[in-house]
Amino acid sequence: MTTTTTKLAAALLFLVGGLSHVQAETIPLPTHKPFKTPAYNPAHHASTLPLHEPAKLHFGKKKNPAALPPQAVGGYAKGCLAGGEALPKDGESWQVMRLSRNRNWGHPELVDFLEALANDAPALGWQGLLVGDMAQPRGGPMLTGHASHQIGLDADIWLTPMPDRRFTRKERESTSAISMLKGNMELPGADRSVDPKKWSDSHSRLIRRAAQDERVARIFVSPAIKKALCEYETEDRDWLRRVRPWWGHHYHFHVRLKCPSDSASCVNQPAPPRGDGCGDELTWWLSDEPWVPVKPKPGEKPKEVKKKPPLTLDDLPDVCQTILLADGK
Ligand SMILES: [Zn+2]
Repeated sequence: MTTTTTKLAAALLFLVGGLSHVQAETIPLPTHKPFKTPAYNPAHHASTLPLHEPAKLHFGKKKNPAALPPQAVGGYAKGCLAGGEALPKDGESWQVMRLSRNRNWGHPELVDFLEALANDAPALGWQGLLVGDMAQPRGGPMLTGHASHQIGLDADIWLTPMPDRRFTRKERESTSAISMLKGNMELPGADRSVDPKKWSDSHSRLIRRAAQDERVARIFVSPAIKKALCEYETEDRDWLRRVRPWWGHHYHFHVRLKCPSDSASCVNQPAPPRGDGCGDELTWWLSDEPWVPVKPKPGEKPKEVKKKPPLTLDDLPDVCQTILLADGK
């Protein structure tokens, strides 16, 4: 580590430790060298960053990660990432899709997790991973899609296996994933199951392998997939607890890691409810209620769904400003 990097690390630690900018300013910094980097002058932040602006406009523009020690900062849907690492676009048993989005970044623990899962995939009968969105180089909110994926601990993995050849750059943009569903979930009384022509035991083995990794907090899948997994597992059902039904997630599954030990200000979600989640909760998810749109009664106005305003820079943890202004690596 160079002296500058050490200082940057120290500055980051101060901020991450929950100190406000004002407090951070009162902490005497080493005086033998002037602390020049504007990125670490808290007063500078306030004067240069428009804190009321949507954070996605700023994080969406960053092409490279912050040259700082790795840190997942804040919550999965309200945070950012320091020291991001890229998942290489090709490995022996993975390929990154949609390269133009530049979202193949994560905390090193996520990169490590994906590489390990990819390496185990062929033995499970799964040729390799097609990796979708991870995070932006410095995490944060995105210009399009995803409320989460902000702190470098979320990754989407396609439910389509990797072909036995390299996709071209163009193919990585244009190839579509395949839905695992039998039919339209939104029709009353629909059969909310996976399509046996598309779903296979190797899908189950791959998701089980992912869920059995101790670093995983949750895996989000369509309720139809959760049902298939509940039926698949006949022995140790512990891992099913981490596989959570959610809307969407029938073209890909979404892996979320727990906060890594180096990320003091990362906010974990509460652990999933006890049990395998194959009982009443799943029954509800497979019923009409979560899916079939409710028609307004005659004379009743349709319910207005209020859109949440976009997160501003001010809404994110303060240290995200430091991360935004830091030099790139
Ligand atoms: Zn996702």
